[in-house]
Amino acid sequence: MILFVKHIILSLLLLQAMGTSFAQDEFEEIRRQMVEGQIISRGITDPATLDAMFKVPRHEFVPANAKRYAYRDGPLSIGAGQTISQPYIVAFMTEELQLKPQHKVLEIGTGSGYQAAVLAEIVEQVYTIEIVESLGRRAENTLKQLEYDGVHVRIGDGYVGWPEEAPFDAIIVTARVKEIPQPLLDQLAEGGRMIIPVGKSNWNAQLVLVRKNNGKIKKKKRMAVSFVPFTRKQ
Ligand code: SAH
Repeated sequence: MILFVKHIILSLLLLQAMGTSFAQDEFEEIRRQMVEGQIISRGITDPATLDAMFKVPRHEFVPANAKRYAYRDGPLSIGAGQTISQPYIVAFMTEELQLKPQHKVLEIGTGSGYQAAVLAEIVEQVYTIEIVESLGRRAENTLKQLEYDGVHVRIGDGYVGWPEEAPFDAIIVTARVKEIPQPLLDQLAEGGRMIIPVGKSNWNAQLVLVRKNNGKIKKKKRMAVSFVPFTRKQ
């Protein structure tokens, strides 16, 4: 009888181990180190954000020759003069939004699609706009392959937002603006939050948290950052 129970326990342990190893990818351990060493260590505590950062395979969103640098503590080039943000900045911005699964989120600046995937681990619907068509299409493909079906990609100028889907509970802008676009303030839901890098030049940019309560807009500077500039269609 004891032997039988032992056998059952061993089988269960083995099954569990197999389950985790099937779910693993070759970068899982490096990703865990990234979350602990770069993100938890700098004070990010929101469990949903940490879980998302642990799950999303960042290496799938960078060019093939940059995969081995994907989990480094810094931004990386994704082509077309654009960059995927440092993991800590992605986590910080995500945490600032205080997301709940039912929230509808708008991202301006799809880039590689990585930030959109992090958002999609937490909420069901993510709308993301990219102005550079080649980047937007590539991100759309990556997201599709990884089955992030709740992410909707649009090619266009994010300045005007996505009026047909407004209002949004959260808006995240991942390119530096000189001034916050009015259409984005208008498309923010009551009680909503927006995180956006604002600055006249890259050297004095600040991440600004915007909140809308009773129709009133409140802004708070959260930290100094460096971001690629927001561009407009000519
Ligand atoms: N969030 C991205 C990083 C974005 S880098 C990621 O996770 O990889 C900033 C992106 O904003 C660039 O791809 C740039 O082309 C885009 N961008 C700049 N101005 C824009 C605009 N007006 N509308 C939409 N996208 C814009």
